[in-house]
Amino acid sequence: MEYNPELHSIKCPKCGHGMAEIRYGDVAIDRCSNCHGLWFDTGEAELLKTKWMGDALDIGDPSLGKRWDKVEDIACPRCGKDMEKLSDPKQKHIWYEMCPEHGMFMDAGEFSDYKHETLADRFRSLIKGARR
Ligand SMILES: [Zn+2]
Ligand SMILES: [Zn+2]
Repeated sequence: MEYNPELHSIKCPKCGHGMAEIRYGDVAIDRCSNCHGLWFDTGEAELLKTKWMGDALDIGDPSLGKRWDKVEDIACPRCGKDMEKLSDPKQKHIWYEMCPEHGMFMDAGEFSDYKHETLADRFRSLIKGARR
């Protein structure tokens, strides 16, 4: 759905469509109506990571998310400044965009990935620490 300030809280930094606010208890996140990317205000992703509800939020198709992941150099939907591209220190295959002041954006499928530290991730860190 095209961005409409009356319906949407913010404009998706990736594809420019409207993001709808979704509330879970005291946490509100925004999900894009087109690419299903997720916007988390500062601190929200950490809060949600501990809650089971996170699973229901990330409805996007990971293969679609991967496609949008290639869109780089996006601007913060709150302040318009360029966002930094970061990878999770524990899960280096996950990249997300972050504005140090306002929050972070994740492509569809990334949040589920972020939340569940998979066995493969753990295995990889074991390999990294192994002696030759
Ligand atoms: Zn979008
Ligand atoms: Zn910002």
